[in-house]
Amino acid sequence: MMTIDKCNFKGKKVIVRVDFNVPLDENGKLTDDTRIRGALPTLKKILADGGSVIMMSHMGKPKKNPDPKLSLSQIVDAVSERLGVPVKFAPDCAHADAETAALKPGEALMLENLRFYEEETGKPRLPKDAPEDEVKAAKAALKPKQKDFAKKLASYADVYVNDAFGTAHRKHASTAIIADYFDKDSKMLGYLMEKEVAAINNVLKNAQHPFTAIIGGSKVSSKLGVIQNLLDKVDNLIIGGGMGFTFFKAQGGHIGDSLHEDDLMPEALNILKAAKEKGVKISLSVATVAGNEFSNDAEQKIFETHNIPDGWEGMDASPDSLKIWKEIILASKTILWNGPVGVFEFPNFAKGTGEIAHYVAEATKNGAYSLVGGGDSVAAINKFGLADKVSYVSTGGGAMLEAIEGKILPGVAAITGEK
Ligand code: AMP
Repeated sequence: MMTIDKCNFKGKKVIVRVDFNVPLDENGKLTDDTRIRGALPTLKKILADGGSVIMMSHMGKPKKNPDPKLSLSQIVDAVSERLGVPVKFAPDCAHADAETAALKPGEALMLENLRFYEEETGKPRLPKDAPEDEVKAAKAALKPKQKDFAKKLASYADVYVNDAFGTAHRKHASTAIIADYFDKDSKMLGYLMEKEVAAINNVLKNAQHPFTAIIGGSKVSSKLGVIQNLLDKVDNLIIGGGMGFTFFKAQGGHIGDSLHEDDLMPEALNILKAAKEKGVKISLSVATVAGNEFSNDAEQKIFETHNIPDGWEGMDASPDSLKIWKEIILASKTILWNGPVGVFEFPNFAKGTGEIAHYVAEATKNGAYSLVGGGDSVAAINKFGLADKVSYVSTGGGAMLEAIEGKILPGVAAITGEK
């Protein structure tokens, strides 16, 4: 497989799928440049080799073409500044022949938002209440056009690099289908993608044991696939946050007004049974910090998690639970953390999540490999200022979750050929 380090881009036009789906304020000003910075190593390597760069990305979910509020023209200056070369702009990604043909070595160009075209996602723009057969027919009609769109994008360049981990779980024109139009030596993952894939492999394929997964967050339903896949891999599974209460209720516990999903109770019992059979130690919270209302200023009391009175809801991990979890985490050689163990957005209920962040950082300092990823755990580790104290923080919420579920990511597979 070709890699970005092995490839010499001298004299090549390189189309790079980046994830510039960045947040803007109401005046179109960039409010967080993490994703732009994430793509810089790849872009700079191509330019330094003497290649030219064609950046393509989506931004938001445009409902029309054009949609000025979601135009990538708004970030051209910000990208130029960070990349250190002026970035040109092609205002129509499907008709950029002139701009791409004029590109010289060392120059950079950005295409307009790919999702201005429904061909990018392959999802037809129909009213929400459109009849099912109409949607089906429109999708079928769009499929060949999606291929043509991917082929058009491919025609602008000699080489394709995918560095957009945030969309790696989508089989879109620019993330996967386009790869069909390049031979194996002319397509590769970018540096960011390489790092993400290596991090996933470190925990899912090459984990050192004991391997502990900390799974928190609000709902069992959104993490079911994750837990099921991890049961075959981990030694310890810490289940915290709102999703823990479904497990207690399923076992006959009283959880007061805590968040739970009745329809997931049989599944929760199945997970406990499967864990026992596979020799995985599941650690649920022994006690919970509960509030008398869902607010930061709620009155707080600690209850055993299977014995929370009505009128109270579990909102954070208790010191007793944290003590047990600390021991498990510090004894681990591989740690995967996904999801907060409490309502960490409320400062008064963020203590448990903050403690977990510190334990993961401490274990990492002692030599464990730690991956934090998938949704809110990234916000949590950033909130506690510990992102650089863990081995890797994933940039892709949905993509990381799907990878942990054991699914093959189309954006990666299109290049590696993995099946
Ligand atoms: P997820 O996106 O599934 O990782 O869930 C993250 C959300 O779970 C955060 O917004 C947390 O506030 C929420 N959460 C964690 N613990 C609880 C809890 N005990 N009760 C309600 N929400 C919770």
